[in-house]
Amino acid sequence: MLRSLLLYLSEREGPKRLLTSASIGRRLARRFIAGEDLEDAVRAVRQLNAEGFDVTLDCLGESVKAASEAEEACRTYLTVLDRIAAEKLQSHISVKLTQLGLALDPGLTARLLNTLWQRAAEHRTFVRIDMESSAYVEKTLTIFSQANAPRDALGIVIQSYLYRSEKDVEDLILLGARVRLVKGAYQEPPSVAFPDKADVDASLVRLMEMLLSSTTYHAIATHDPRMIAATEAFAREKGLSPDRFEFQMLYGIRRQLQRDLLRRGYRVRVYVPYGTHWYPYFMRRLAERPANLLFLLQNLVRG
Ligand SMILES: Cc1cc2nc3c(=O)[nH]c(=O)nc-3n(C[C@H](O)[C@H](O)[C@H](O)COP(=O)(O)OP(=O)(O)OC[C@H]3O[C@@H](n4cnc5c(N)ncnc54)[C@H](O)[C@@H]3O)c2cc1C
Repeated sequence: MLRSLLLYLSEREGPKRLLTSASIGRRLARRFIAGEDLEDAVRAVRQLNAEGFDVTLDCLGESVKAASEAEEACRTYLTVLDRIAAEKLQSHISVKLTQLGLALDPGLTARLLNTLWQRAAEHRTFVRIDMESSAYVEKTLTIFSQANAPRDALGIVIQSYLYRSEKDVEDLILLGARVRLVKGAYQEPPSVAFPDKADVDASLVRLMEMLLSSTTYHAIATHDPRMIAATEAFAREKGLSPDRFEFQMLYGIRRQLQRDLLRRGYRVRVYVPYGTHWYPYFMRRLAERPANLLFLLQNLVRG
């Protein structure tokens, strides 16, 4: 119930205006967001790199309403890619296709995405396409496969809560695509996604085993110790060395677990979001853990 309500509010303008205009809102968002500008993000990347983590940077934004906003988002990401190269940061970028205009004009999105992965390839870094709600999954996969980019320049995300994902993973393995596997963060009806957490978890384990049985380098993105233990056990059983895949986690979540995995010899990439359009991202993080809402309410009451 609470999860559904928070995910519903994540798409509403009224609560967005309320939270983003209040200084307390911005302060609370800092728990999950590196800051509002690129300098904040670069500082966070440097610190994480120094500790041994790799990073993927997300310039927050989604569901743009005009082509000019999509072009602006693309220019921002190009600046980020150049900065990553200039400072030799160990970082990729993560981008949402609705930020590049997917809801307006898929042709424009494809063109902007090509600009991004080509610049990433020049700098020997990587673009990950985040996966959004099920309304965009088919279009996102189509744009990804039509881009026909080298596998070391462009990759995709698969959500284990969707019934369709097993078939999508089979197809992506055949393409040799690099996949980030997640549970899925959006509000989905039972007609497209498993309603029960146990089924989402079982699906994640199944898809993880399919992905790690292929020869491509994939990412398992979860903070769930049971999913991590299942991945470690599978890798051990198959004799996969820790550099055959990576774990990924979100900035500000389960930091000790992130450090423990590094210590155990795994590659860990931290997803670092920054920017002023933090509201929907922040609300999805609240929805994932009811205790986060308590934290928010306590802080709002304290002012
Ligand atoms: C690197 C990365 C990239 C992602 N990219 C996408 C994407 O492109 N598309 C998409 O739909 N989803 C994406 N997600 C989100 C993902 O789908 C899940 O919603 C999210 O990771 C929570 O699921 P979990 O696997 O951590 O397991 P859960 O069972 O939800 O959580 C396991 C434990 O992790 C901790 N935890 C999890 N979330 C939080 C939180 N918000 N605050 C505090 N503690 C928390 C808690 O201790 C919880 O008990 C991404 C996640 C990661 C880590």
